[in-house]
Amino acid sequence: MNNKHSIICLALLAATVYLVGLIARSSYAGGDTRPLNEQLVSFLQDYIRIETTHPNPAYDKALSFLKKHALADGFTYQEVSLPSGNTAAIISFIGTSPELPALALNHHMDVVPASAEGWITPPFAGEIYAGSIIGRGTQDMKGIGATHYFALKELKEHGFVPKRSIHIFAVPDEEVGGFKGTKEFVQTDQFKQLNIGFIVDEGHASGNEQILDIKVAERKPIQIRITGKGELAHGSHLAAHNAIHDLVQFLDQIIAIHVSQQSQVGSKQPGELLSMNISSLTAGIKKENGHIALNMVPDSAQATIDIRVPPTMKKRDVKKMLDDKIKHYPDLNYVILAEAEEEPELKDFKTSLYCALSKSIEQFGLCPQPHYFEASSDLRFYQARGIDGVGFTPFAIADNIHGINESVPVDQLIRGKDITVHFIKEFCG
Ligand SMILES: [Zn+2]
Repeated sequence: MNNKHSIICLALLAATVYLVGLIARSSYAGGDTRPLNEQLVSFLQDYIRIETTHPNPAYDKALSFLKKHALADGFTYQEVSLPSGNTAAIISFIGTSPELPALALNHHMDVVPASAEGWITPPFAGEIYAGSIIGRGTQDMKGIGATHYFALKELKEHGFVPKRSIHIFAVPDEEVGGFKGTKEFVQTDQFKQLNIGFIVDEGHASGNEQILDIKVAERKPIQIRITGKGELAHGSHLAAHNAIHDLVQFLDQIIAIHVSQQSQVGSKQPGELLSMNISSLTAGIKKENGHIALNMVPDSAQATIDIRVPPTMKKRDVKKMLDDKIKHYPDLNYVILAEAEEEPELKDFKTSLYCALSKSIEQFGLCPQPHYFEASSDLRFYQARGIDGVGFTPFAIADNIHGINESVPVDQLIRGKDITVHFIKEFCG
């Protein structure tokens, strides 16, 4: 063993001693005799090991795993069959005042794929390395689901009885848009009967050890394809009606908008700004050998743009802007290929939910920060129904959603659960 090895071994030993200390500080659970924090860690490790990766997520295994825990811990468990054939699960802790709007803690069961290349430990082994649980889903978002579940379990074991009911939702298909998951789930009778007034869904890891972000709004996607029509001509023809020229002139204006928004990053978060990324360009005449003909002007050209509309703007205003610009080019037109149907009303984010969560974060010596999310998640389906919702990932490590070596430090997992316990006591007690 050389010096470098000894240092690594000492570091790992120190991390292990620290973890044992953390785990020992927690209380003992009822059925499972291990300390609750130790159970939380194994729960997440086991959950990671269930490969809920698209295109064939093992939802049946994830559901029976959640069901087994919920029933053993004395919670109410129900499954909701969705029109797509998928299933969502609801774990409930019923309050003494069921007339109060209920709180839901939402997590999705599916994860994005991961190949083993580049990982310190295999992505679906759920192993602990240097104090962190490594694995696909640790941040996005089985780790968050684990903090939700163990917060409820700890409260229940300590005899806490909530006034408003609390439900944990485990939903499918978020990673492929949520159309066969939450979008269907919120339309079911079972969902409507729960009288959900508040929802906490995923946010993102803050990447700053002093701060935890609370996601208050998301951008709305609009994806379009623009087609330009011209005339097929020889490349030497000065008067050629060139489809590419019209398209490029139009795209120039799109780029100008995008760049002016980019220049505001710093004073604003990216999630508060409009982005218009050109995502493809297609034009040119191909010869039989597959090469582009250098001396031909094509009769059509196409581009696609991925537009993300911030919560401060309306989708209809962005479409009007596109219409106003494109009308100067009679041979260009665009079609919308996909867009978010949901457009939640922008309101003051400092709701009772936001304030209760902020207060709990501050109790742990951290600073809560409102966050405008660049992309979109299941939260939009709940917010579009008028439910007060935020996204909250209780981890202060660097955001590594969908990345290689996605991980969560064990101490932050436990603290995340503790913050959630505090928040539930504040908000539902
Ligand atoms: Zn997610």
